[in-house]
Amino acid sequence: MDDRLASDLRSAIRTIPDYPKPGIMFRDITTLLGDARAFRRAVDELVHPYAGAKIDKVAGIEARGFILGGAVAHQLSAGFVPIRKRGKLPHRTVSVAYALEYGSDEIEMHADALVQGERVVLVDDLIATGGTATAAVKLLRGIGAEVAAACFIIDLPDLGGAERLRAMGVDVRSLIAFE
Ligand code: AMP
Repeated sequence: MDDRLASDLRSAIRTIPDYPKPGIMFRDITTLLGDARAFRRAVDELVHPYAGAKIDKVAGIEARGFILGGAVAHQLSAGFVPIRKRGKLPHRTVSVAYALEYGSDEIEMHADALVQGERVVLVDDLIATGGTATAAVKLLRGIGAEVAAACFIIDLPDLGGAERLRAMGVDVRSLIAFE
């Protein structure tokens, strides 16, 4: 990706200091989503490496991963699989718990959302500690899917999430980093 595009995407993202709690710099992609050109270019850039590849499904992590993942799935002519917080999906689910700073959380997907051997691209807006994405990869692999890649608009490299995912053998891509 060229530097100009990276800088355009970066400036389309709004940063809100101390949200949702003091010390957090919240990277708000709603401004990027609302900018037709930036949204299109971000999705094109996420899709680009997989054009022509055999990708059966795109899995998006609630909630911003649904918006991006839906657009990516459409572009790849792939199905879409929602990965949600516990208790939101109506049919039989599989789940994985993961640690938060205080306590733990759980994500789920429908047990029949994928079949053994399907190739999946995981999508979310941002990777921080990698706790959510790592749990999502475990969920997908647990039902026999092959995780072709995990893609994010934003990486926060200081928090080490991308490295954690790579250590699991996942091909990780992000469009921009905020140090
Ligand atoms: P983590 O599990 O720590 O990698 O956190 C990733 C998830 O939390 C993603 O779904 C993000 O949308 C959200 N998130 C974490 N940190 C931020 C941040 N600084 N700004 C916006 N979203 C964040």
